[in-house]
Amino acid sequence: MKHPFTEKLLAWYAENGRTLPWRGTTDPYRIWVSEIILQQTRVAQGYDYYCRFVERFPDVQSLAAAHEDEVMRYWQGLGYYSRARNLHAAAREVVRLGGMPRTYEGVRKLKGVGDYTAAAICSIAYGLPYAVVDGNVYRVLARWMGIEEPIDSTAGKKLFAQLAQELLDPQQPSRYNQAIMDFGALQCTPTAPDCLFCPLNDSCVALHTGKVDRLPVKEKKTKVTHRYFHYFFVRAADYTFIYKRGPGDIWQHLYELPLVETDGPVEEGRLLESEAYRRLVDGVQVLSVRQVAAEVKHVLSHRVIHASCHELLIPPGARLNGDFLKVSTADLQNFAVPRLVSHFFSLILTQNP
Ligand code: SF4
Repeated sequence: MKHPFTEKLLAWYAENGRTLPWRGTTDPYRIWVSEIILQQTRVAQGYDYYCRFVERFPDVQSLAAAHEDEVMRYWQGLGYYSRARNLHAAAREVVRLGGMPRTYEGVRKLKGVGDYTAAAICSIAYGLPYAVVDGNVYRVLARWMGIEEPIDSTAGKKLFAQLAQELLDPQQPSRYNQAIMDFGALQCTPTAPDCLFCPLNDSCVALHTGKVDRLPVKEKKTKVTHRYFHYFFVRAADYTFIYKRGPGDIWQHLYELPLVETDGPVEEGRLLESEAYRRLVDGVQVLSVRQVAAEVKHVLSHRVIHASCHELLIPPGARLNGDFLKVSTADLQNFAVPRLVSHFFSLILTQNP
């Protein structure tokens, strides 16, 4: 017999479930792609990315065969770029293995696939009884059961995983998992849950104890760091300079403009006198310098980037110091860049293509 929670949830889903392009398929590759895109991205934003991605890479073979730069271009603007790198590396592994693993353990071993994604792929593609546990599930269960155990504590994670597994309908794990994801996204939302018309409102502990806005509980506060980036868009006739970011920092393997990073905010005059800037242009005749943006704030999950951008004009044929790629400004669209850099490109190139 189904738990009353599960019955109500499935009845709610029958009426309110979303129609999404990755629903209605049991293709593990497409489910995998959709889950990776949705890991840190809202459905509204991820929808178009998913459609474009699977149109260009319709199966694991086409993704495995693609160059990493192209995969990154299809990810450009979504953020959390390690997701794309891992997905690409794992696609190559799947091809090497001769096909997608068919067990939870096999799927879980793929690069970038955690418990949540493995449970989603296995339940939706293969009908295996693994309950998903993500932010939506934490929220729904913490509120409905009135659980105050922090969701980011070891004990909390264990408890929620166990409860989610107990409530799962083993006859229809795919439907159940999609139902709870949609319920968290549409009904029991983080800031404005629709408790009045909720099918669980008669049994919801948080609602009856006035704790809806206090649950779920999080133990740790994320520490936010601030970084100060100063970009230089250099023009040498129709050419400019970019480089590929290396490992060990944000935006690994994405391209960006020559950059000076400072420990804190600096005025324009001091920036242009700084050692790092001088090294960049040492021996180069700078014909003009124009500030394009004084400070653009770009918020990432644990960091705030404060970025400025300058446009430098240097003689045709001149080069900046450093290991930069000289590219035609008309070809810039072929390089995957962080959204912040893309913003500076459009600022500069719409004014002066
Ligand atoms: S009654 Fe409100 S808090 Fe409780 S499960 Fe429903 S929407 Fe969430």
